[in-house]
Amino acid sequence: ILKESNRLQSLIHDLLELTRIEQHGFALNLEEVDINGQVSDVIKILKGAATEKNVNLTLKTNTPNSLITGDPDRLKQVFINLITNAITYTPSGGLVSLEVENQKETVTVKIKDTGIGMKKSEIPRIFERFYRIDRARSRDSGGTGLGLAIVKHIMEVHKGTIDVKSEIGVGTTFILTFSKNLPTK
Ligand code: ATP
Ligand code: MG
Repeated sequence: ILKESNRLQSLIHDLLELTRIEQHGFALNLEEVDINGQVSDVIKILKGAATEKNVNLTLKTNTPNSLITGDPDRLKQVFINLITNAITYTPSGGLVSLEVENQKETVTVKIKDTGIGMKKSEIPRIFERFYRIDRARSRDSGGTGLGLAIVKHIMEVHKGTIDVKSEIGVGTTFILTFSKNLPTK
């Protein structure tokens, strides 16, 4: 009962968040955000979950800071959702490696795991709300299928891109690219 109640609570939270983003679209709280700092913060938050699953979490960066213009809370949500997925869909003994690359006009974040992977044909659908690959397989992970729909919206309002590479049984890499200067329309 407790597990179901937690699950319901997180479902309601995610649905509210998605609805808010869809309705308010571009109402972002824009600030200068350090992506290195954000990813490190999220690692701290999720370290316990990774350790519990015996999944190693590593971070590589090419500069001490990677500043972009963005909404800090929403960006943090992107990293939480993607890194949580990487940990969730990676079996014990696996590795989740994060890489932040600061380039001239963009910042790229790679979230790579050695997990169960996805079929090419499934990839376009994973960003749909409530879509989960093979419900039986993911049932015990207790999610609702909203995480990536939220990620996609947040990336869109930041004019960023999200790319996925995956192979069944080998792993998955999500590649995010942010432009440093968010074009204001
Ligand atoms: P939640 O709403 O709690 O995040 P979820 O994790 O099932 O639930 P999404 O984060 O939207 O939902 O992911 C959708 C589906 O995409 C997952 O159910 C899973 O099947 C697949 N998926 C996402 N990330 C990965 C990954 N790193 N490796 C393998 N499959 C993944
Ligand atoms: Mg998820």
